[in-house]
This record gives sequence, structure tokens and C-alpha cells, in this order.
Amino acid sequence: AREKLIQSEKLAVAGQLAAGVGHEINNPLSFVMGNIHFAVEQLATLAGVASSEVIQETEEALEEAREGAERIRRIVRDLKTFARGDDAQLRQVDVHAALEFSLSMAMNHVRYRAQVVRCYGTVPMVWANEARLGQVFLNLLINAAQAIPEGDVARHRIFLTTYVQEERVVVDVTDTGVGMSPEVLARAFEPFFTTKSQGEGTGLGLSICHGIIKALRGEMSAASTPGKGSTFRVVLPTRGEEAEALLPLLAAPMEQAG
Ligand code: ADP
Ligand code: MG
Repeated sequence: AREKLIQSEKLAVAGQLAAGVGHEINNPLSFVMGNIHFAVEQLATLAGVASSEVIQETEEALEEAREGAERIRRIVRDLKTFARGDDAQLRQVDVHAALEFSLSMAMNHVRYRAQVVRCYGTVPMVWANEARLGQVFLNLLINAAQAIPEGDVARHRIFLTTYVQEERVVVDVTDTGVGMSPEVLARAFEPFFTTKSQGEGTGLGLSICHGIIKALRGEMSAASTPGKGSTFRVVLPTRGEEAEALLPLLAAPMEQAG
């Protein structure tokens, strides 16, 4: 319980910080990126003048700097998305429609890795924000795809399962990917925790999902078998009155975020 608290506090602080200083970071960052680009172009004119070894080493250093700057840009963007308040309205949402929309967004990631199997039950609408819920499913689908090696589509599956349990709607996203060790599973929802290389992940996806689902009075959990695959579970309340009482709570942090 204490770890959970630390994780959501960390994210709340990071989100507020990014919302507040996002453009303060992005402005100088665009200079940094612009100047890196300029230096790369200048370097090209030195071919034949400076030693090719020096040129190559400098190119590599600049490429690393560019990747670092790109990573900062992505982190700020992800945090801003989390803190943004322009879509805070709650409506009755059809989880299957939200899943299908997210799937269409994730198709480029999914297509070459797995076949999607839908196990949709008859479920009522949930009281949620469609854009935010879509964001959650999109993150889960991209994670599922990234856990599956490319080029073995016939063997791999991503199962989308929905059903009702105790008046709540359960959505399971299950993949047949690499799975998670107990150590990774324990830290998966932690902000900035990632096992992926620089280009692929910021480590913010699941903590943002967790924040969104928690704000909707839902629950998120994960289970995994290393080498076999993982299931990420989202449980959502269906009774509107309960969620409606939360509207002021949902709006509060978002107002300050601007
Ligand atoms: P990111 O995807 O940027 O790394 P996330 O918060 O989405 O950040 O995920 C954190 C970590 O949890 C991932 O780096 C990965 O190690 C693990 N993870 C998440 N989803 C899966 C999955 N479906 N299969 C295996 N590992 C996963
Ligand atoms: Mg992710």
C-alpha cells in the first residue's frame, strides 16, 4: 500500500511539474534540437577536410544528443497529456467501441506481431471519459505488441476479453509475449520504470493508465508468466451516480494543470 502511494504521488508531482513548465522546457529544447541539426549539417561539409574518424565520432555524439533531446520531448508530452484537463467530461462509454478505436490506432504496432482475438461479453456501458479510456487501452495494446517479437504472427495472439463481475466491467488485455519476471511485474506501474530501449518507451504508459483508471474509481492489475505472456486487467464501475460524485475530484487537479 505504501509503494502504491509513493507511485501515485510521484506521478502527480511529475504531471503537475510538466504541465507547469512544459513550454519552458520545450522552447529551449527546440533550440537544442535545432542546433544539433545544424551541427550535423556543418559536419557534412568537413568531409575530406577533417579526419573521417573524428567526423564519425562527432556524428555519433550528436546522434546520442539528439536521442536524448527526443526522449525529453516525449516525456514532457506524455506528462502533459496526463495533466491536461480539456477532456475531463464523463459520459456513458461503450468499452467495446473504445477498444476498437484504440485497436485501430495501435494497428501499426499489432499487425506484424499478433492476431487479435476478441472475446467480448455482454457488458453495460461504463461511466468514463472516452478519450482517457481510449488512451488506457492504446497503452495496453502497444505494450502487448511490443512484448511480442516481430515476424511470428501465426503463433502469437492478443486477446481482448470483457465480462461483468460484481456489477463492474472487466477488460482483460492478454498477450502471448515475453512476459514479466516478478521483479519487473512489481515495478511495471511505477513512473519512469521501463525495460525498453531509448526509442521505445518512457516508462510512463502504465502509471498514466493507473492514474486514469483510479480517477474513475476503477482498478488495474497485472499478471504474467515469463516466456508465456501477460494479462493487464482494467475493472470499471458501471453505476453513474458513484462516478458523478467524483466529478469535482476529477476536475480539481486538472484545473491547476492548465
Ligand atoms: P514503457 O512501455 O514506456 O516501457 P510502461 O509503463 O508502459 O512503459 O511499461 C513499463 C514496463 O512494464 C515495460 O517497460 C515492460 O517492462 C513492462 N510491461 C508492460 N506491459 C508489458 C507486457 N504486455 N508484456 C511484458 N512486459 C510489459
Ligand atoms: Mg508502454
